[in-house]
Amino acid sequence: MPYAYDDQNIFARILRGEIPNRTVMETPHTLVFHDIRPHAPVHVLVIPKGRYVTFDDFAARASAEELVDFHRTAAAVCESLGVSPGAGGAGYRAIANAGPDSNQEVPHYHLHLLGGRNMGALLPPA
Ligand code: AMP
Repeated sequence: MPYAYDDQNIFARILRGEIPNRTVMETPHTLVFHDIRPHAPVHVLVIPKGRYVTFDDFAARASAEELVDFHRTAAAVCESLGVSPGAGGAGYRAIANAGPDSNQEVPHYHLHLLGGRNMGALLPPA
């Protein structure tokens, strides 16, 4: 049973132009913008323009075109922000929260890209 999509979520409103954002990159299927409460010197959010709630929802239902566009755009952003190890950057962390146990705040799929400093341990020990 997929998580129901809420058209009033804040990223849906950003996509409709109802709320401003600091856009980093935009394609027909994907938008990248700065996180409003950055956790690192580089903290951007990559979102599909389609109505997907989580990573697994997007991975299961998006078209091949959307999937390729999303990931190629994320790669281009990593390079343009200077964090891609393959392009001489010091690296980054990609995080996707999904559902209550992850404390997902915005129910529109988004990939956090964080970098510009050492990101430390993945999580505290269990
Ligand atoms: P998550 O907990 O994975 O759902 O993360 C949601 C992220 O969205 C958080 O890092 C917030 O700081 C960020 N966020 C919430 N509202 C906005 C906004 N209007 N513009 C940019 N980022 C936002």
